[in-house]
Amino acid sequence: KREAEAKAKADEARAARDKDPDPKKREHTRPPTVIVDREKGASYRRIGFLGEGGFARVYEIVDDEHDHKAVKVVNKSNIKTKRNKTKLWAEIKLHQMLKHPNIVRFDECFEDGENVYMVLELCDHGSLMDLLRRRKRYTEAEARFYLVQLIGACQYMQDTNVIHRDLKLGNLFLDRNMNVKVGDFGLAALIENPGDRKKTICGTPNYIAPEVLFDTANGHSFEVDVWSVGVILYTLLIGKPPFQTKEVKAIYRRIRENRYEFPEDKEISASAQNLIMSILNTDPQERPTLEEILQHQWFLDGPFPSHVPVSSNDSSPDFS
Ligand code: ADP
Repeated sequence: KREAEAKAKADEARAARDKDPDPKKREHTRPPTVIVDREKGASYRRIGFLGEGGFARVYEIVDDEHDHKAVKVVNKSNIKTKRNKTKLWAEIKLHQMLKHPNIVRFDECFEDGENVYMVLELCDHGSLMDLLRRRKRYTEAEARFYLVQLIGACQYMQDTNVIHRDLKLGNLFLDRNMNVKVGDFGLAALIENPGDRKKTICGTPNYIAPEVLFDTANGHSFEVDVWSVGVILYTLLIGKPPFQTKEVKAIYRRIRENRYEFPEDKEISASAQNLIMSILNTDPQERPTLEEILQHQWFLDGPFPSHVPVSSNDSSPDFS
């Protein structure tokens, strides 16, 4: 176990380095005001900054048809190593393949001398993490709505043999109608042959499944995304992830020991607790399938909104 832990640490440090190269070396010159796809003869006007991640900066753009979109821009100087290049092409290949109403649409991809550009569907309302920061917690009704959409996307990914491996509130975006769009396929993997297992340790500490960290011999598969769905549900309802502590090492210890609690001052329904506990099973084979999650009583135990109002960005919606 100690060995596994040491390996986990080393791998994680490497993953972190790869994702966020030396910040001083990271180059982020601004892309041009008008971004041109020479091959297609299309041009996009850059009108605003949306956010940045490890490799990329994301901007709002307007295309020739006046449609607003997002563009993820990766400066070529940040993908000089073969490893980083391979990772970016893998992200593009996987994301390009996926077409589902709850997955950020990938429109096109092109490059110029400076950058690689990925044109994506615009998600006007940011991520579920941004909303959590403002609201602190979600209502159970909202959580039902978002979870069904997330699970729809997960079912589609499984059918397409893709494991996302980094499902978390920060990678669940909201479009103008407050529908969930799964994004950021930077850590996703394709299962090329049925039964194949993945061995790379990756993910975000709070959301990482125990078998990724502690069963490196056996590897992991689609069940890691189911685990993250459990962490996401807990985080929506309680306001912070179940295994959260200051130190990454301590988070991993808690994950291994399956140590989390439901704080008494943040009351949630018994059926929600029951669903979370069933998903956060250390043994991936014992976790419910996505279908089984959708069959859970919790989905019938209270209001199930057909949509979530934009006003929920600032205050709890009332579905009673
Ligand atoms: P990275 O893979 O480098 O972490 P992300 O894909 O997570 O980058 O994007 C970084 C940030 O850009 C996100 O946190 C979000 O704020 C913003 N962003 C990404 N994609 C979109 C989108 N399609 N619409 C609106 N904002 C987006």
